[in-house]
Amino acid sequence: MAQVEQLIDGIYRLERRIDGANAPFAVYFIKDGDGAIVEPGPAVLVPDIREAAKELGLSKPQYIIPTHIHLDHAGGVGRLAEIFPDTTIVVNRQGAKHIVDPSRLIESTRMAFGDDFESTYGPILPVPESRLRVVSDGDRLTVGNRELLIIHTPGHAGHHMSIFDTKTKGLFCGEALGLIYGPGYPPLPAVAPPGFDLELYLKDMKNLMALKPRLLFYSHGTIADEPEKLIKTVMENTRLVGAFIRRYLKAGESEEAIIGHVGDYLRDQFNAPLDEYELMSNVKGYTHYFRKKGLI
Ligand SMILES: [Zn+2]
Repeated sequence: MAQVEQLIDGIYRLERRIDGANAPFAVYFIKDGDGAIVEPGPAVLVPDIREAAKELGLSKPQYIIPTHIHLDHAGGVGRLAEIFPDTTIVVNRQGAKHIVDPSRLIESTRMAFGDDFESTYGPILPVPESRLRVVSDGDRLTVGNRELLIIHTPGHAGHHMSIFDTKTKGLFCGEALGLIYGPGYPPLPAVAPPGFDLELYLKDMKNLMALKPRLLFYSHGTIADEPEKLIKTVMENTRLVGAFIRRYLKAGESEEAIIGHVGDYLRDQFNAPLDEYELMSNVKGYTHYFRKKGLI
């Protein structure tokens, strides 16, 4: 059994851990009309998604909507498009070209996750352009009796969008509201080069808070039911971690040394022992941003 769990009226979640990845993955299903799958995750989850969809009676989902095209959020869309030949894949303009021709995406995934990423996450396959619906900020999708509002949240990466279910006021926030690495961890910024933009990231958080969501559906396992408090905390933490890294960059320290400092800082101040890959991603992402803005 795929074991889907109902969260709230018509919204279901499937949670999976995969070997070699730290945080769990959450795939969401909206059961209303023909239904939709939000945040399909990497291709390795496809058999579970197929089974869960069957369990929920979603034989022809209307839409598959990844929040953004990074491997751990949308790696499986190519394979899912084959399995569900009537389903439309929803992406924004920045994401569309990489979904149709994933060669650059595969290249950057290799750099981030290693040459053999497929053995852990499964392959990234292209989606024919005719299968896409390209959306922009403010667009609304109708799924059964509900409307999904698309909010462009480019701070994590230009191709990132958040999806607000106006019926339940549940927000599929992807990585726009940071990451909660595990139970008991505080929310920390989700930072990856080269797309991360600190200024836009904070702006996205303010925009999402203004929607007054009731629930936050994170992509790596967690659901948060005190959105306003959580968003304020993640904004604060995003600024703190950025200021910490910038100070060492200005002092001319090496990337390796800064990774060590940030690791200690997050462990001691936030009780969040991140692994080497996560620390590197944070340091590289902030460094790229500060350089781009001439701030170091
Ligand atoms: Zn991402």
